[in-house]
Amino acid sequence: MSIFHDEVEIEDFEYDEETETYYFPCPCGDRFAITKEDLENGEEVATCPSCSLIVKVIYDKDQFMCGEIIEAPATEVQLVKT
Ligand SMILES: [Zn+2]
Repeated sequence: MSIFHDEVEIEDFEYDEETETYYFPCPCGDRFAITKEDLENGEEVATCPSCSLIVKVIYDKDQFMCGEIIEAPATEVQLVKT
């Protein structure tokens, strides 16, 4: 079981395009890190390489897992006739 140091929204992370990694300052002086790939895989735990703290990343999974180009298919509402 994981105990999160904090919960942080992805908007509050700093995105590094070169490494495709999101960073958030850790109290120890280093930074929590989670990669874009992790997010696409549904990962929600950002870890700090210098200490044992972890934070839970709050983000919209659908936004990352659907990719950038693919649009969500139109929802077909079927009326159930009884
Ligand atoms: Zn740390």
